[in-house]
Amino acid sequence: MSDCVFCKIVKGEIPSSRVYENDDIIVFKDIHPAAPVHVLVVPKVHIESIEALTQDNMDVVKKIHAAILETTKILGINRDGYRVIVNCGKNGGQTVPHLHYHVLGGTAFDEKIV
Ligand code: AMP
Ligand code: ZN
Repeated sequence: MSDCVFCKIVKGEIPSSRVYENDDIIVFKDIHPAAPVHVLVVPKVHIESIEALTQDNMDVVKKIHAAILETTKILGINRDGYRVIVNCGKNGGQTVPHLHYHVLGGTAFDEKIV
């Protein structure tokens, strides 16, 4: 996807503050952090959202979760805990149409939707 901001970050065409990377996943800081720690866990392959997951590309979900575990250790939030949020589509408030998991931590959240 040539006009996708996260694909551009994957290709290095847009700078990002990376905290973890492997062959399939990159993790970088959100430019508008909503918590002391706020990173985005992003598959390198362009998948629009959770709704675009299929049996053929579903393996990436396991890789995303493995990358979350690496990332929370690197950022030192694994012991105290954190929140993982995935927005999907218009009603979910998704603004970047490339699958990404928000990982937020470094504080105790008092507001909860669920
Ligand atoms: P969502 O609203 O769930 O689609 O989340 C998109 C997130 O991407 C927002 O929290 C933005 O602040 C973040 N974002 C957008 N562009 C960039 C960028 N160039 N670098 C880092 N984060 C970004
Ligand atoms: Zn993309």
